[in-house]
Amino acid sequence: MKGYPADRIRNVSVVSHGGAGKTSFLEAVLYMCGMTSRLGRVDNETSNLDYDPSEVRRKITISSKLVPCEWKGNKINFMDTPGYADFIGEVKCAMRVSDGALVLVDSVAGVEVQTEVVWEFAEEYRLPRIVLVNKMDRENANFYGALESLRKSFGSSLIPIHIPIGAESEFRGIVDLISMKAYVYEGDMGRASEAEIPDELMGRASEYREMIMDSVAEMDDSILERYLEGEEISQEELKSGLSKAVMEGRIIPVTCGSALRLIGISSILDAIIDYIPDPVRRGEAFAFTPSQEKVSLTPSEDGPLAALVFKTVVDPYVGKMSFFRVYSGSMRSDTYVYNANKGREERIGQLFWLIGKKQEQCEVVGPGDIGVVAKLQETETGDTLCTRDNQLVIEPISFPEPVFSMAFEPKTKGDEDKLSMALMRLAEEDPTLKVRRDPEAGQTIVSGMGDIHLDVVLERLKAKFGVDVLLDLPKVPYRETIRTRAEAEHKHKKQTGGHGQYGHVFLRLEPLPRGGGYEFVDEIFGGAIPKQYIPGVEKGVKEAMQEGVLAGYPVVDVRVTLYDGSYHVVDSSELSFKIAGAQAFRKAMQAASPVLLEPIMNLEVIVPENFMGDVIGDLNGRRGRILGMESKGSLSVIKAQVPMAEILKYAIDLRSLTQGRGRFSISFSHYEEVPDHIAQGIMERARKQAG
Ligand code: GDP
Repeated sequence: MKGYPADRIRNVSVVSHGGAGKTSFLEAVLYMCGMTSRLGRVDNETSNLDYDPSEVRRKITISSKLVPCEWKGNKINFMDTPGYADFIGEVKCAMRVSDGALVLVDSVAGVEVQTEVVWEFAEEYRLPRIVLVNKMDRENANFYGALESLRKSFGSSLIPIHIPIGAESEFRGIVDLISMKAYVYEGDMGRASEAEIPDELMGRASEYREMIMDSVAEMDDSILERYLEGEEISQEELKSGLSKAVMEGRIIPVTCGSALRLIGISSILDAIIDYIPDPVRRGEAFAFTPSQEKVSLTPSEDGPLAALVFKTVVDPYVGKMSFFRVYSGSMRSDTYVYNANKGREERIGQLFWLIGKKQEQCEVVGPGDIGVVAKLQETETGDTLCTRDNQLVIEPISFPEPVFSMAFEPKTKGDEDKLSMALMRLAEEDPTLKVRRDPEAGQTIVSGMGDIHLDVVLERLKAKFGVDVLLDLPKVPYRETIRTRAEAEHKHKKQTGGHGQYGHVFLRLEPLPRGGGYEFVDEIFGGAIPKQYIPGVEKGVKEAMQEGVLAGYPVVDVRVTLYDGSYHVVDSSELSFKIAGAQAFRKAMQAASPVLLEPIMNLEVIVPENFMGDVIGDLNGRRGRILGMESKGSLSVIKAQVPMAEILKYAIDLRSLTQGRGRFSISFSHYEEVPDHIAQGIMERARKQAG
C-alpha cells in the first residue's frame, strides 16, 4: 500500500446493530479490492478481521479494527466497529476520527436498538452518512420495509440512490438512480455487468430519482432554475450536488446489497468515493495552542504536525500499538514528536498500516491518513502528537462513564500483583474500563459498560495473562453514626509487676449533620488529664471509629468531646489513655442510638417514552425516590435517588427491562439511614462473618 494525497483518502466507520453484517461487508471489500485472495467468513471462523479468540467464540466484534483498502485510485480507511452496547467506547473512538459513516441495517429487521445509538453519535460528530440495507439475499428481505423504518426513525432526508433488482434468493443486482443504469451480478464474485433497468422497476426508479433531484435543486439556485424549466441536469452536476447535500447532512443516501454474496458492494464503494467527503473537503478539525487559542487544522503537508491517538492495543508480542489520525502535517518513521497532553517527547520508531492483523511498514503517514506506531512510552488514547515548537492539543475523545462494577479476586492466592498489572494493561487499551482498589473492602473493583464487557475482561485476563479470577459484587460502603447525645466513662487500670497501666476518660458524643465528618474537642481544664496524654485519647477514639458497634463499618458524623478523666503519676501512659479512649467511645456509641447509613446514588435514566412507566415502577421497588421526569424528543429522562445496594446490577436489569433501549448514568449523592428491617439483615451478616 502506498501513501495517498489527502483528497484521495476516505475515513469511514462502519457501524450498526450487532449482526447486520459489518464484518462480512468488510471481508467482501477486502476480497474485492484484492487485499485477500480468499473471502473470509464470520460463520466458519475464517474471518480476517474478527480473529481474537473472544471474538471468534462469540461471533461478535469487540475491538474496532482498521481496514484500509484501495479502490479505483483512492484509499478508504474503513473502521469495523462493535455492534454491542458494552463496547460503545470503541465505536466512539472510530467515529471521532472518521469523515463519514456507513450505517448497515438488516433488510429484515430494519432499524434496531444499536442503530439508534450509533445514529446519535453520528449526529454528535455531524458525520456524513450512507446507509446500506444489507442481507438483501435473505428470506423475507424487504428493502422498502427497511427504508420505511429508517425514514420513520431518522427522517425524510433518507433517500435511496440504489434500489434492488429482485430479493431473497432472486436478489441479483441494483439500479443506480444517479446514472439510471442497472448492474447485474453473476456468480458470487462481486463482478457486475451493466444492463437496462427492468421495466417493472422504472416507476420506482423515476420516483426516487425525482426525490433526489428535488432535494439537490433545493440547495442550488442555478440548478433549481433549470430544473424547474425542465432542462436536463447533467449527471456530474447531480453527483456534485448530492455530494454537497450528503456533507451537509441534508441527504442521507440509502443503498442495498448482500455482503455475503458480494452483490452491490462495488456500487457502494463507488458511492463512498463519490459522496463521503475526503479530509480536505470535510475541513472541520480544531486544536488548541498552549495559550488556549483555537486554531483550525488543514490536512496539508506544510501544516504543523497534529495527530490524534484514538486507539491503543497492547499486544503480547509487539507491545503497545497506538493508532493515530493525522489532521495536519505528516508523521514520519524514526523521528521525535511531542505529546502535548503529557508534556513529553516520544520517539516514533517504525510506522505501519494494519490490515486486520497484518502489518505493513511505511515511512510516512500523510495528512488525513491513519497509521499505527508501536512502543510509545506515555501516550494514551485521546492524546495529540505534535512537535515541541508547535504544540497543539486536539479536544480529547469523551467516553461514557462505566456503569457496572464487579470485584475481581485472583483464584490463586499470591496472584494479586499479576492481576493488578494485567488489569492496568487492559485499562490502557480500553478507556471505558476503570480499575480501583477499595482498601476498606479489600477488593479490586473493575468497572465497565456492562456484564459482557467485564466477561471479556475476565476471558482476556486468563488468555493473555494467565490469571484466573473469581467475581463478587462490590461491597457497599455502609457507615455507622449516632442519633442522640450520650456520655460514657472508661477507666483502664492494670496492675502488673513493675509499671502498671492507668488511663481514665469521660467522653461525650453528639451527632453532627450528615457529611459533618468528625470533630474532637478537648474540654479538659485544670489538668485532670495531662496534655501529653490527650493525643493518646484521640488515637483511641479514631481507632474505635474505624469499626462501629453495629456491623463494624466506619463511624461518621460525630463530635467527640473529652471533658473529664484522671491519671496516675507513675502508671499512666499514652497507650493506657488510648485504650481508655477507645473503650469509652464504644460504650458511648452504644448509648447514643447508633444507626447504619447507606450510600444513596443519583441516577439518571434515559429510555424511550413507552418504557417510562416500567422503569419508574421498578425504581420504586428498589426504594428509589423519583426526583423528576422530562421528555427529550421521543425519550424520557428520569432523575432519581436510589440506595447503592439496590442498583449494583442495574446495567443488566435495565437492559432486560427495556430490551436494551435504556441508558443511565450514576454518581454518588449522600448517605442516609438504612431502614430498620434492612439494617437487621446487614448486622446479621456482619455477625456471621465475624464468626
Ligand atoms: P456484524 O456483527 O455487523 O459484524 O455482522 P457479521 O458480519 O458478523 O454477520 C452476522 C451474521 O449475518 C453472520 O452469520 C453473517 O454470515 C450474516 N450475514 C452478513 N451479511 C449477510 C448477507 O448479506 N446476507 C446474509 N444472508 N447473511 C449475512
